[in-house]
Amino acid sequence: MHTKTSRHILELSVQEQKDFINSFDFVLSDCDGVVWLILSPLPNTGRTINLLKSEGKKCIFVTNNSFNNDEQFLEKFASVGTNLVKSEDVINPNKAIAMYLKKYKPGERVFSVNNHVANEVFRNNGIDIETLDITDNLDPASLARLIKPEQKVGAVVIDINFNLNYAELAKAYQYLLDKDCELIMGGSDTHMPMSADMATLGFVDFAKYLSKYSHKQPIALGKPSPRFGDIIKEMYNITTPKRCLFIGDSLSSDIAFGTVCGFQTLLVLSGTSTKEEMLVAEENLRPDYYADSLADFIELFQNIKLTNNNIK
Ligand SMILES: [Mg+2]
Repeated sequence: MHTKTSRHILELSVQEQKDFINSFDFVLSDCDGVVWLILSPLPNTGRTINLLKSEGKKCIFVTNNSFNNDEQFLEKFASVGTNLVKSEDVINPNKAIAMYLKKYKPGERVFSVNNHVANEVFRNNGIDIETLDITDNLDPASLARLIKPEQKVGAVVIDINFNLNYAELAKAYQYLLDKDCELIMGGSDTHMPMSADMATLGFVDFAKYLSKYSHKQPIALGKPSPRFGDIIKEMYNITTPKRCLFIGDSLSSDIAFGTVCGFQTLLVLSGTSTKEEMLVAEENLRPDYYADSLADFIELFQNIKLTNNNIK
């Protein structure tokens, strides 16, 4: 039985819309599927972010996107119409993994099967990383030479990597046979919204593959892992989770994450999850609110302002 009903923010009464806006200080928002699609923009999202900021909301962007660097994120925000977002306002698994490694594996070498942008972030944080670049056609003998562990590593890191190949996974497995080697992963997305008519598969099952055969429980530092939430709360000094609104387009990634972190949650229908999926979702995947898109906040603020002007 469902006890929680998700309400569309534009179907609330004006008083409820005011109460809703006053119920949070922080807006924590996903990016892909909310602010833009991976390959195309979404309309009026930059304007909405500027508006939320002008209303005094602290806006933080919490994304599992680990294939864009800070410069590219700021370019993407500019392309949808906002120049008010700074690189420190964006947190993704790369940054969280770098923080984790510096804190818990200081000075230790890491084998990364992550993408080149992530590897650059790790190197910039002073982390000694080993990667595997394949140029030749492999046979059993050359594969065996290639995947033989070189020196001890403290962790294997895996996340989105469009160039991921078998030899990298095979070497990661060899390293994970060492009892001290941890398995660290980013987000748990099953799909990624590329454009309005295409979603592609996520990378979570490659992490599960390594976990299954190495018998190592992965340390997940992306949505929906509560450990990622703890890092964010510490970074941005969030002491009252209920005063945060988490906005995302994925029930299993964003809404699950918002719920486990104790945030209020809002699903936007501009990305991965559909209204139909929301209506039949389990309780912990069911958002408090939903909207067609982030831009619905523009109309909501107009409603509130019009009423305020009428009262005067
Ligand atoms: Mg998303």
